[in-house]
Amino acid sequence: AELKDKQYVWHPFTQMQDWVSRPQKVIAAASGIKLIDTEGNEFYDGVSSLWVNIHGHRKAEIDAAIIEQLGKVAHTTMLGLANIPAAELAEQLVAIAPTGLNKVFYSDDGSTAVEVALKMAFQYWQHKGKPNKQKFIALEHAYHGDTVGTVSVGGIDLFHRVFKPLLFTSVHIPAPSCYHCQLTLNTAACRRQCTDRLEQVLAGHHEEIAGLIIEPLVQAAAGMLMSPPGYLARVRELTRRYGVLLIVDEVATGFGRTGKMFACEHESVTPDMMTLSKGITGGYMPLAATMTTDEIYNAFMGDYTEKKTFYHGHSYTGNPLACAAALANLKIFREEKVIEGLIPKIAAAEAKLEQIAKLDHVGDIRQQGLIIGIELMQDKSRKVPYPWEQAAGASVCQQARKYGLIIRPIGDVVIFMPPLASTVEEIEEMLNIIERSIREITQ
Ligand code: PMP
Repeated sequence: AELKDKQYVWHPFTQMQDWVSRPQKVIAAASGIKLIDTEGNEFYDGVSSLWVNIHGHRKAEIDAAIIEQLGKVAHTTMLGLANIPAAELAEQLVAIAPTGLNKVFYSDDGSTAVEVALKMAFQYWQHKGKPNKQKFIALEHAYHGDTVGTVSVGGIDLFHRVFKPLLFTSVHIPAPSCYHCQLTLNTAACRRQCTDRLEQVLAGHHEEIAGLIIEPLVQAAAGMLMSPPGYLARVRELTRRYGVLLIVDEVATGFGRTGKMFACEHESVTPDMMTLSKGITGGYMPLAATMTTDEIYNAFMGDYTEKKTFYHGHSYTGNPLACAAALANLKIFREEKVIEGLIPKIAAAEAKLEQIAKLDHVGDIRQQGLIIGIELMQDKSRKVPYPWEQAAGASVCQQARKYGLIIRPIGDVVIFMPPLASTVEEIEEMLNIIERSIREITQ
């Protein structure tokens, strides 16, 4: 399989992938929170296969739900037809989402959920008689997906640079990043620094702004940059004051990752739109949802001649197998009290991370629930990063593989986001491997 993979498969971020993970591991099976390669080696899945396998792998209840649905119907279009799992899932998503998000538009992955939100927000203002509201505010360092629309609101130059001529212009505002900021946390100056620019943009240009899109609490692909408490609530307050839609991208943070079902809940924020994917099926199938309010949905109501149709729909939208997996996922959350069960796990990680923070080359540790970023520095006291050619993040992740743990680097930030199903002991064991790998590579 390794040879066929090399010959025929074009992996995402190919060159980077080779550099990070050579030799490529071919995963043949999985069990619980472990992946097993073709040679029988076992690895802890320390990134939940990119945020998705919340309950680990081969979760019996999800396996069974998919098999049961397979015996009924595997796929049917949502265009002019409905299906039972999609309808039931929509009802359950509305029940657990922030109050007021009453409508669910399905699509297939995080990028398309965001793309849908952007197009919906844009068209909404056309219907409301404010056609000049066409632009989006986004944060520097943001990542919302890889399609042309989502890259347009993205703020990571690497993803942007080549495609610039294809992209629409967004207004990028500075993103909070406490480690790299000189101000004391939670002071008036700190709060002002974070939202001053946003307030200026909104005051001056709100008549041209359709919406603001944000990754709540954590900018994931930027290297787990975290915003200070109160920031998201302030963004909500300002967008509401200036009549700009707030799109909260919970693709990464949704489904328990931050310690609550949705990151918005930490600041009691109800957005106008919320995008979901990744953990929605517990890591089984591609599925995504864009949730929105009755106010936005109703602006699209009318007969065909009124030209209010939202022209967007994918072949696999609302796929019954994926929705059955998502229903089983939510049932596990309820029955196993997953959110409550996170408290000791998050605390155990925090305690272990305090030790790791003492290592000579660990500059910053950022944790929100079971989202963890460990930023390495060549000179910790003066906050001097490693030069590009001596980058340590990838080597630490390579080293961790030798000890049976899959984690990934974003530059020199080591990313750890274990399945929520990991036990306290497993979390400690994985963090021990990380500590040992950092020591061996940086000292
Ligand atoms: N939004 C956020 C916040 C993400 O982290 C990601 C993926 N990492 C996406 C959108 C895109 O999701 P997908 O890869 O499923 O298209």
